[in-house]
Amino acid sequence: MDTPMRFATRCIHAGQSPDPTTGAICTPVYQTSTYVQPSPGVFKGEYDYSRSANPTRTALEANLASLEGGAHGLAFGSGVASLAATLHLLRSGDNVILCDDVYGGTYRVFKTIFEQFGITATRVDMTNPGAVEEAMTPATKLLWLETPTNPTLKIIDIERMGEIARTHGALLAVDNTFATPVLQQPLALGADIVSHSSTKYIGGHADTVGGALITKDEGLHLRLKHIQNSVGAVPGPWDCFLLLRSTKTLNVRMDRHCDNAEKMVAFLDQHPKVERTVYPGSESHPQYDIAKRQMKRGGGMITAFLKGGITEARTFLENVKIFALAESLGGVESLIEHPAIMTHASVPSEERAKLGITDGLVRFSVGIEDSQDQIDDVERALNAI
Ligand SMILES: *Cc1c(COP(=O)(O)O)cnc(C)c1O
Repeated sequence: MDTPMRFATRCIHAGQSPDPTTGAICTPVYQTSTYVQPSPGVFKGEYDYSRSANPTRTALEANLASLEGGAHGLAFGSGVASLAATLHLLRSGDNVILCDDVYGGTYRVFKTIFEQFGITATRVDMTNPGAVEEAMTPATKLLWLETPTNPTLKIIDIERMGEIARTHGALLAVDNTFATPVLQQPLALGADIVSHSSTKYIGGHADTVGGALITKDEGLHLRLKHIQNSVGAVPGPWDCFLLLRSTKTLNVRMDRHCDNAEKMVAFLDQHPKVERTVYPGSESHPQYDIAKRQMKRGGGMITAFLKGGITEARTFLENVKIFALAESLGGVESLIEHPAIMTHASVPSEERAKLGITDGLVRFSVGIEDSQDQIDDVERALNAI
């Protein structure tokens, strides 16, 4: 009982135990807003009101904390809600450094919401630690990064960013949505906060929107928990139940995502209509050494640059069938998208060019269908160009 459980076992069991009243093996959906008190101010356990705490959510929070190697987890109604909660740690005059190709919605939260409160954001190419050092100011209180980034899958050295943050008394938050704790565990590499859009791989079935924050430090956790309760962007118990069901298979899903992505990269790399691919598991990746150090495998996301421009990309995308043309990622079903037209359309074109988001760039979220069917689908669509 006391031996620490290994990762695959914790996916299934962490945070959960048979229901004490019935023995139900699955944590029930505690669809309740309030809890009866036997005497005023006396609670059964820690529960008084479901914004503050709900047993289904507690199980999910403990499960995610365990998977990230943290001590505390907090679940939110979306990935951007977990970001917003983190930003509530800051005050007017503070500065945040973001990686330059941070998720579009993350940048929007800064630009359109938090800048009004005097919190500034600086975007820096974090593959260049010197540039981050240079951008640090006494006002910088938080470094926020994604790795791999979206959509160019740059790899940022988490350990190095942790050192820079600590030297300057700032916190490091890592959005671990793309890698998941199966492939990368930022807390062990020096991050203070791990953030997730559990809408993606954690949920994995394209049927829920959710977010999470995981920490090791109790003081930081209590501040974030206070924000979670005060600002209140909590998920409902049903979504927590679905996410608990999802994390049970996270480990095996990620393995298959990686297997299928590796095969797809090998196929794309030899195809005459593909200029090149970017994949963290490929030796040709510019930060392959860092990826190898901090990630177990390359993940399920692939960026491919097709030869030609918008016309070629459009023809290709109109002809895939198994790969569904849609935003989002990380589900069992394969998705494909065109960042310049879809997810990153709001990024000005000269900025897109600077980030390397060209008209021929296509982003694959490789699902867990049969790998040969996926390849046949892509081959058919490439031949249509
Ligand atoms: C989707 C996504 C988010 C935002 O999450 P939502 O659940 O959509 O609010 C944040 N970061 C990354 C890397 C994402 O892919």
